[in-house]
Amino acid sequence: MTRVPFAPEEAGRCLCGECPSKPDEMKSFYCARGKSTAEVARRGCLCEECSVQIDYNLADSYYCILGAPE
Ligand code: SF4
Ligand code: SF4
Repeated sequence: MTRVPFAPEEAGRCLCGECPSKPDEMKSFYCARGKSTAEVARRGCLCEECSVQIDYNLADSYYCILGAPE
């Protein structure tokens, strides 16, 4: 597993904006930026189908709750 860089080309691939669980805030790209400070209702997570998740060999989901993987 590799740490996801906070880079625009990676942020542009993030699917959080289409996610039904995403908190109503400007922040997204949680696997690089860290967890949300907002309450998150688990209604599914799109990370498992995201190309960032695949390319960086990430193994979890709900990074908006768990924070960026170490
Ligand atoms: S793995 Fe999840 S948090 Fe990371 S870029 Fe993809 S959709 Fe966004
Ligand atoms: S980290 Fe997963 S659950 Fe959270 S907003 Fe992104 S896709 Fe949705």
